[in-house]
Amino acid sequence: MTHERPETLDSLRRPLRDLRISVTDRCNLRCAYCMPREVFGQEFVFLRHADLLSFEEIVRIARQCVTLGVRKIRISGGEPLLRRGIERLVEMLARLHGEGGKPIELAMTSNGTLLAKKARALKDAGLARLNISLDALDEAVFRRMSGGRSSPAAVLEGIAAAQAAGFAPLKLNTVIKRGVNESEILPLLDHFRHSGIIVRFIEYMDVGESNGWRLDDVVTVREMLTRIDAEYPLQPIDARSPGEVAQRWEYVDGGGEIGVIASVTQPFCGDCGRLRLSTDGKLYPCLFAAEGVDLRAPLRGGENDLQLQRRIAAAWAARADRYSQRRHAASGSSVRKIEMSYIGG
Ligand code: SAM
Ligand code: SF4
Ligand code: SF4
Repeated sequence: MTHERPETLDSLRRPLRDLRISVTDRCNLRCAYCMPREVFGQEFVFLRHADLLSFEEIVRIARQCVTLGVRKIRISGGEPLLRRGIERLVEMLARLHGEGGKPIELAMTSNGTLLAKKARALKDAGLARLNISLDALDEAVFRRMSGGRSSPAAVLEGIAAAQAAGFAPLKLNTVIKRGVNESEILPLLDHFRHSGIIVRFIEYMDVGESNGWRLDDVVTVREMLTRIDAEYPLQPIDARSPGEVAQRWEYVDGGGEIGVIASVTQPFCGDCGRLRLSTDGKLYPCLFAAEGVDLRAPLRGGENDLQLQRRIAAAWAARADRYSQRRHAASGSSVRKIEMSYIGG
């Protein structure tokens, strides 16, 4: 007889389900909405290597989270492919099993620019899913979005390598910023229709303190869908699982699936079961949390697995965050928000 573990619930009765791990706070791009180059320039001080969690430390924490109910782990950053030996971490995390011996679902989000060389090794190491970020196909627009770094050709090469390695269905993430890349919505869809690749458009969010976010810069999902539907009629598809952040749509003409993520205008805090682990070992129960719970000091101080597990469970139990639902009430607050590159998008 198998005994089901009780779920680990937060103060709003949301179960702990997903863990996002930032494996580096560094990136080779300088997307204006995430790590604008004026802020993340030559003088910016990134974490020292000794401050980063080692792979062994990450896996120990991840294992406790899995025991507490996590079913899905996403490796993120910064740019995760910049972390040396990332395939080894993938291999270690892919061995974790959840409730009833079920393997956890292991995913990664990458900007794709370094993927051409890495896709095969990631697949072989046990990575199940890959999301690749691509904000434009037009070279000039891409470079406006990426802070002048890299090119759409490099990302397309990474996408081709990921497909050849067998990642399917591949999902692309595109953040739309008004007046910068909204002109790329239809070209991206033209390019990826009938390819089996799912393009997902994301509303530009007010994460961190660096990007100078203004509501006027947000192109709403409703607006995006109206534009897309006028060119390519769409019909909705049912959500695969509760807590899924993307709304799924398909082309009426059979061209495939697309997604939209209305993080600003239709917040999904009610179902949010995501816990984030920063590069230096702090737990953040919300993308917009200001304070993290440090696990690195207790871990390095010799705490055992059960003690760590209790810390994680306590951090989750205390969780009352639902920033996106309260955005208007929260705007103007003096509490500093943490950068996305540090806690993993
Ligand atoms: N470097 C990797 C990448 O870009 O895919 C992984 C980390 S990045 C922080 C994860 C995701 O967060 C990317 O898809 C990125 O587009 C998204 N993102 C970053 N800042 C954002 C913002 N202000 N609003 C919406 N999405 C954002
Ligand atoms: Fe780097 Fe990803 Fe942030 Fe762009 S969104 S700056 S690629 S971490
Ligand atoms: Fe989850 Fe916080 Fe985002 Fe709401 S604002 S969906 S609680 S991460």
